[in-house]
Amino acid sequence: MLTTRPRGTNDFLPGEVEKWQFVENVFRDICKEYAYGEIRTPIFEHTELFTRGVGETTDIVEKEMYTFNDRSNRNITLRPENTAPVVRAFLEHKLYSQTQPTKLYYIGPMFRYDKPQSGRYRQFHQVGIEILGAKSPAADVETIELAVKYLERLGLKMKSVDEAGSLTLFINSIGCPACRPTHIRQLKDYLSERLEALCDDCSNRYMRNPLRVLDCKKENCQEVASNAPSILDSQCEECKEHFQGVREYLKAVEIPFEIDSQMVRGLDYYSKTTFEITSDALGSQSSVCGGGRYDGLVELCGGDPTPGVGFALGIERLILTVDKKSKVLPETPPVDVFIASIGSGTSLETFRTASKLRSENISSDYDMLERSLRGQMKYADKINAKITLIIGEDELKRQAAVLRDMESGDQQEIPLSEVVIKVKELLK
Ligand code: ATP
Ligand code: MG
Repeated sequence: MLTTRPRGTNDFLPGEVEKWQFVENVFRDICKEYAYGEIRTPIFEHTELFTRGVGETTDIVEKEMYTFNDRSNRNITLRPENTAPVVRAFLEHKLYSQTQPTKLYYIGPMFRYDKPQSGRYRQFHQVGIEILGAKSPAADVETIELAVKYLERLGLKMKSVDEAGSLTLFINSIGCPACRPTHIRQLKDYLSERLEALCDDCSNRYMRNPLRVLDCKKENCQEVASNAPSILDSQCEECKEHFQGVREYLKAVEIPFEIDSQMVRGLDYYSKTTFEITSDALGSQSSVCGGGRYDGLVELCGGDPTPGVGFALGIERLILTVDKKSKVLPETPPVDVFIASIGSGTSLETFRTASKLRSENISSDYDMLERSLRGQMKYADKINAKITLIIGEDELKRQAAVLRDMESGDQQEIPLSEVVIKVKELLK
């Protein structure tokens, strides 16, 4: 127990963590270009935010939440997604009273009691964006475009543009409170004649939330779903027009897409546009990014009716894809300078020199374990040092050090007072 992490969680160690920093930095950069501000909300919220905001009959709320009572008996849940928390913060801080729309991005861990496997964990991480207060299809497509551009910047390609590409964008419209009831009625009729073919979960929940059946991963249910009446056939005028707009904006920025009329996505709060980006480098956990419009959510959380649209993109699945399909991810960065010391009295000077170099933003390291010179040079190799400084007893008497360029092998004696200048010259 003491040496094993909880099931479904991960440790990210140096070597791997540079990739995380890289994809997070690229995300921050692109969000800045699209004029989004970062929001950081707590990792836990009142459970009710999710039962109401995500939906009682969703997989997330029915089976996946980490919920507990705290010491004062408050019912708390580790956030399984971040749209409801962002909406909560939007209301709590009255962001709606500032210039609209509100454009926010986030990066952070989410928690779901999922069945752990490749690309599916209990603590996982998402980057995401939300636009609150804009109902134009331009907003839907801005979020899609940002996701696609982000993935492209990480070296991934759309399959329809490049044979070797791995990404596909699926879009759908799941209607609004005006037209969805018609579709749901048709869907219920259709399903009621096929109940034996559905899994236990679906035959139980088809009355309460038949759209869920379309989202079930079981083969039989998917088979039934594939022939179900299409939601696109029962759209009202407003939804039709909006969906038309989404397609036009997508074409305007040349983003290829496929329409998947069965895609409803796992959260209850969606209306109109839903979208998903899948990667064929991922096997069965193929969804990298999911998003859509949620015009009813703000009101559901107690605010005035306010349109919203956004996406969430899973970092673990992103990195699995980028590892397979792209070469942009960085390796562990080398250390600029390793300082070796030989003989008594040199270690203080070494320590002082390291401190001086570090203050000049030059990464530096030295031996802490009293190794032999040979051992120290091995260590310098291991950390990939670009330059080695050797401070021996004789050099120290002359206030000097030997500077060695590890790539060329060239070395020279330099005065200790010139270490920073000489190192900077070599690093250039
Ligand atoms: P799935 O159908 O694979 O369970 P989902 O529909 O539950 O995905 P969303 O709620 O749309 O996923 O979350 C957006 C993204 O977050 C997903 O596309 C995926 O990249 C990532 N994600 C969701 N659940 C997990 C998980 N348990 N482990 C790792 N990543 C996840
Ligand atoms: Mg899921």
